[in-house]
Parts: sequence; C-alpha cells; structure tokens
Amino acid sequence: MTVSIETTSNLTANGIIHTLEKTADVRISELDSPKSPEDTNGFTNGANGHTLTSIDASLTTITHSTSPRSVPAPDDPAVLQQKTMTDHMLTCQWTSTHGWQTPTIVPYGPLSIMPSSSVLHYATECFEGMKLYRGYDGKLRLFRPTLNAQRMLLSSTRIALPGFDPSELLKLVVKLCAVDGPKWLPKERPGQFLYVRPTMIGNDPALGVQQPKEALFFVILSMFPCMDVLSHPVTGDPRGIRLLASQEDMVRAWPGGFGYAKVGANYGPSLVAQAEARSRGFDQILWLFGPQCAITEAGASNVFVVWRTREGGLQLVTAPLHGKIILDGVTRRSVLELARERLPNGWEQGGLDPLEVVEREFTMGEVEEAINEGRLLEAFTCGTAFFVAPIECVSWRGKELSIPCETVDGVCSGKYTALIKGWLKGIMYGKERHEWGYVVDEADV
Ligand code: PLP
Repeated sequence: MTVSIETTSNLTANGIIHTLEKTADVRISELDSPKSPEDTNGFTNGANGHTLTSIDASLTTITHSTSPRSVPAPDDPAVLQQKTMTDHMLTCQWTSTHGWQTPTIVPYGPLSIMPSSSVLHYATECFEGMKLYRGYDGKLRLFRPTLNAQRMLLSSTRIALPGFDPSELLKLVVKLCAVDGPKWLPKERPGQFLYVRPTMIGNDPALGVQQPKEALFFVILSMFPCMDVLSHPVTGDPRGIRLLASQEDMVRAWPGGFGYAKVGANYGPSLVAQAEARSRGFDQILWLFGPQCAITEAGASNVFVVWRTREGGLQLVTAPLHGKIILDGVTRRSVLELARERLPNGWEQGGLDPLEVVEREFTMGEVEEAINEGRLLEAFTCGTAFFVAPIECVSWRGKELSIPCETVDGVCSGKYTALIKGWLKGIMYGKERHEWGYVVDEADV
C-alpha cells in the first residue's frame, strides 16, 4: 500500500507525517507492509508514549433499527433531492489519549456534538464518495475502494485529523454496506446503486485554534439519482453537460493549498459560483487556474478532452496531478488506465483510431483553437457522483463554445467517451470480471 507524502523540509508535508505519527496506529513505513492481526491492537507512540488503539473492524457492534423504512422508488422526489438515507450508519470515535474506540453500526439518526466542536468553527472535516452497485450477476460491489480509503487518509492528515489504517477503514465501510445493501439494493433491481459517504469530523469541544484532540469517523449510505444522463428540460432530447468557466475573481484551489484533498473546505466556498452557473442555465462550473486559464476540474469531477493535434495524432488529455490543485479522482485514474491499456492500437469493433493518453496542463485557449479548427472531437467530465458525463458546451469570456456531442444509443456522447464509460459500467455492475470490482459479502455482518 502506498501513501505518497513528500519528505522534504516542507512545513505541510512534515506536519502531515507528524500528524500520522502522533494520532494513528500506523506509521508511514508500515502502510506498505500490512501488520499481522496480533499486531493491530495498539502500539506505543514514539512522540508522547501513549498507547493508541487501532481501528479494529472485527470488533464492530451492531444495533439494528427497530423502525426500518421502506425503500422508495428510484424516481421518488426525496431520492432526487438526495435526502433518503438507509436504515443504519456506522460511527467510530477517536481521542488523542486512547486512539480509536469500538466501531458501532446504529440506526441512522442525529449526531450529538457540542457547539464548540472544532469542525463547526475550523472546517476540520473530510469525506469520501463511493458507490455500492447491485450487479447484473446479483452481487454487491464497490469500485476500487482501497483508493478511496487511501485518499481519505491523505485528506484527514492534511487537516490535522487522525490517521488510521486504510484497510481497516475499508472493512468498516464494507460492514455497513453488508448490513443495508441487501435491502436497499434488492436483487430484483440490478443496475442500481447507493452512494457511500465516509466522513471524518473534528468533534473536540474546544474553541482553541489547534489540532483536534477528538474526532468522529462515520459512514452513511444514501439513495442517489443517476446524474450522467441529461435531457433538455423542454424537449426531453438527450443533451450533454453545459459548463460555465470560472471568472477571474475566483479559483477553486491554488498551489500549496489543499485542492488535492477531499476536504469540505474545498466545496462550501465553490457553491456561490455553482448556484450562479445554475441560474444561468449551466450544470457546473469549469474551474480554471492562472493567467493561461488552465483547465483543472468541473464541479466535483475531473475533465478530459479528445482532440487531434495539429500534427494529426489523436490524444486523450487531462490535467496533471503534480501541481496538487486537483483531486486524484478514482474515475480519472481508471479512465487513464483503461485508455492506456486498451486504446493504444485503437478499437477495431467501433472503428476507433489509436489514442495517445496525455496528462498535461491544457488551457481554454487551446480548447478554443481546437474547436475553431475542427480538431476537438469530444470532452467529458468524470467522477463517482456524475460518473462519465459528455460535455456539450463551455461558456468562456462571453462565448459559448460548442463541443461535438452525437446521440449514441439515446445518449448524447462522443464515441470514445461512450466506449470508456461502457467499460467502467461493465466492471461496476459485474458484466466484466475485473480486479477493480470489490465484491461485498452480504453475509459478512
Ligand atoms: N474532483 C473533485 C473536486 C471531486 O470532488 C471529485 C469527486 O470526488 C472528483 C474530482 C472525482 O473523483 P472520483 O472519481 O474519485 O469520484
């Protein structure tokens, strides 16, 4: 298991290493070599001599709900409003003196935190977004969840929340999925999913501006609408996603900041621009960065374009991770890996030419030129919530730039976009057997 943290004399990087050493049951070196089970119940912390207890998913207690709810239809208004949670939630408390306490699965309900809690004042919150899929083979699956667990560690330590062993955290997520998945994703409704939201908050009731000494990890499961297939509100015709480029007065993230971490502090401040975009008839903000207007992300998704270079080669291009201003999306990574593996020689069945996969900074100016010169073939956003969503236009500096979007199988999409999306869907819903599909054992409760 690899957690990439720079060990330069940089304040943030060192702070993260020290947070891990002080707060967790794992040291960075240990993340690469899993401990034996006998070894997982605490160790003496070198910094202050405390013995901290590890997260131990095998100790999880379960209190079943005495008032379970019925599962609404997928098009129920409450589902569309993303207000329907399943019957249970998982919680696990951490303190700086004892480490992680016994995880518990309890009926879904309010949390109790003090008004002085760190999270309410200093945004000590991070989260993950995953989906639990009901496959066409009847199985429940998560998609590459180890990546989410590792990213959660990256996020929590970036904001001084405690560290943990990502493999134990994943086991907790799986336990809750095994409790509520069978009922909320009935076998008779294959092709559906629940949204999985692991979250960590600093619930230390102390107003001092400092690293929280108490934190709560919890997981909830939500019914979620399918957001990747859009239709015109009046005609009902299939359409692509419409993006409004961010203006000069606002950036989502900056070098040295925390754009690469999935922390709530990245999202709240973006909502005013997102609301403005919606009120002007767009779906999301396309976040640009710097004087060159580099394309970074769109809403809670990564962005890809397929274009032909002036030399005639076909490229799939997305922004790089090294500047640390974009999120290392699980879907982004998967698109890159599938395209590198399956498209270097093209795709004969679909008559698609070979595609070179490129991670590099690319700008709105380049996109505009490619559109004007007829070289831009497709563009799409990708992420867990919105999945793979073809882009039909970008509004930038008062111009609406149209991106080709033909209708394939009743969906507005480019051909490469549709192909890659189909591969991902196949893995998620068990049509293709693949190591990325992580089967949840429904009997494991
Ligand atoms: N970028 C941002 C800012 C996001 O919030 C997300 C969603 O988590 C993504 C990209 C896509 O990441 P993933 O594919 O892991 O869902």
